[in-house]
Formats: sequence, C-alpha cells, structure tokens
Amino acid sequence: MTIKDTIRKYTNELKLVTHIPAKEVEILMLHLLEKNTIWLHLNYNVEFEKEKELEVLVKKRATNYPLEYIINKASFYGEMFIVKEGVLIPRPETEILVENAIEILKDKKEIKVLEIGTGSGIISVMLAMLIENIKIIAVDINEKALDLAKQNAIKHGVENKIEFRLSNLYENVQENDIFMTISNPPYIANNYILPTNVKYEPSNALFGGVVGDELLKDIIKATSEKKIPYLLCEMGYDQKTPLENYFKEFNVDSFSFYKDYESFDRGFTLKFKN
Ligand code: GLN
Repeated sequence: MTIKDTIRKYTNELKLVTHIPAKEVEILMLHLLEKNTIWLHLNYNVEFEKEKELEVLVKKRATNYPLEYIINKASFYGEMFIVKEGVLIPRPETEILVENAIEILKDKKEIKVLEIGTGSGIISVMLAMLIENIKIIAVDINEKALDLAKQNAIKHGVENKIEFRLSNLYENVQENDIFMTISNPPYIANNYILPTNVKYEPSNALFGGVVGDELLKDIIKATSEKKIPYLLCEMGYDQKTPLENYFKEFNVDSFSFYKDYESFDRGFTLKFKN
C-alpha cells in the first residue's frame, strides 16, 4: 500500500483520541521511517513498508497513550526536546512562563537562577539558550527526570550552564546568590479526575496536595526566607485568589498574574522586597 493510502486507512482509528488524526498517523509513519515532513510530501505514492509496526503504534495511540511518549519527542518554544514516560510532557502554556523570565533576565549580567522541578528540563534549557551569562541550578526529586533534562541540555549545547541536582524544593540548595526561582510545580488537587490522556503522565509531576496549591505555597514561603528577589511560577486556573491572599503574609514589592492561551489564570511573577 502507498503512504497516502496507509494514512487514509489508519486515520479513522485515531479520530476519537485527537482532532488531527491524519497528521498523527503521518507523525507515527515518519517516526518509523526516520524521515521528515518534506520527504513525506514528496513521497506520498511510494510503497509503505512498515505497516505492521505502524499498526502497533496506532493501536497504542488509540488507547490515549500520548503521542510524545511514542515518538520520544515534543516541541517547546520552537525547539525539539526528548521526552520519556515517567516525566511530564511539555505544555505550550509553559512558554509564557519562560517568556516572562526572559523579560526580567535579558539585560542582566552573571545571573544565577534556580529551577524547582525541572522535569524534562525545558525551562532551564530555554533560559540557558536565550540568556548569555546565566548559571542555572535545576533541581528535581526524580532521578529519571534529571537524567532526561541533562540529555536535553546536551542536545542543545547548554550543559555547562546548568547544574542538575537531586533536591526536594530547597533541601539541597545552599547558595545565597540566587536572583530568581522559577517553577512549574505540581499544582493539581489530589482528588481531581484526570482526563485519560494525562493519566499516563507521572502523578508526582501533577498533584500538589489536597487543595492543589500546597507546593506553590511552600515554594513562595521558602523563596521569601531565602531572600531571593524574584519568583515566577505556573499555577492552576483557580489559584489566583488564594495565592494573592497568601502573598500578603510576605514582604512583597510587587506581583502580577498572567493568563494562558485559553485565557485561564495560569501563573505569576512575584518580586520580594529584600
Ligand atoms: N519543568 C517541567 C515542565 O515545565 C516539569 C514540570 C513538572 O514536572 N511539574 O514541563
């Protein structure tokens, strides 16, 4: 069967799990063939030789298993990152968090940033790529994540700007010259029923406690105690009011909240008075 006919044949099987079924079949085929989209467009009428393998992958994807875990790739901020089961898949809204950090960091010299919960390393790697004289400490409680983040730093040539460290929040962070802490921490309430596709992602990257904002509050408190000037975090769509109230307990200079691409409240920039 030709590539074109194979795409037609398998598209139906993915209609219930994605709104771009044909595109996803193409992505799975390209993954098996180790080719790119340009090649595909020039070779629609070529015989497709790996139908058996494709069938296996399509069946897996049809269970809602994430495409990114099948192809071990995800794009973030216009770059390709390696992803693996056991580590959170990058989300587009986290790009806004990175953009906000860049706005603050762009003119600074010799700056040190801490990332809490680096996961696949997307935030630290992008900051290292885009800010010249930056040093980053990227911590996580998950060794598998740290290993993956390191691979992503190497892939993008910034491994000498980032130190990866096993640490629960600030537990193994003793530095006293950190300028900014950035984090996309787990912020979902423990009893929240996840959509099927998200169920394949690690719960320790998603759930933040009974209410959901417990880890965010721990990070805010510890960052203030450490006298770190800036804290930038992603958060849940319903956490703006409780966090705004929580800010009042600290010596805050200024803060702002931002919305995601769907206009949900999604995070904040907090500046402490120190
Ligand atoms: N920092 C990573 C990301 O933003 C991982 C976050 C997490 O696992 N909660 O995708």
